[in-house]
Amino acid sequence: MTCRELTDFIMEYLEGDLDPVIRRTFDRHLEECPACVTFIESYRTSISLGQEAFGCGDGSPCEVPEELVRAILNATQGRGPETTSGGCGCGG
Ligand SMILES: [Zn+2]
Repeated sequence: MTCRELTDFIMEYLEGDLDPVIRRTFDRHLEECPACVTFIESYRTSISLGQEAFGCGDGSPCEVPEELVRAILNATQGRGPETTSGGCGCGG
């Protein structure tokens, strides 16, 4: 599985709907690819933000449009720790 393929399955993965066979491949990729682990964490956070925006952040199941999640991801990843100007590089 490539990083790109992984993103195609991320919604199913987070919802627990992923086919067991695919899920095994998915988990294996995560073991080898810290970038995708970070990406999933960001994705999860974005879904939470989306649920708050939709007014259903009380733990009840809620469909957040994938487009919205991606939009939030784009907005938040733009100012991630990769910025080199003025940073000390300690990551924190
Ligand atoms: Zn990856």
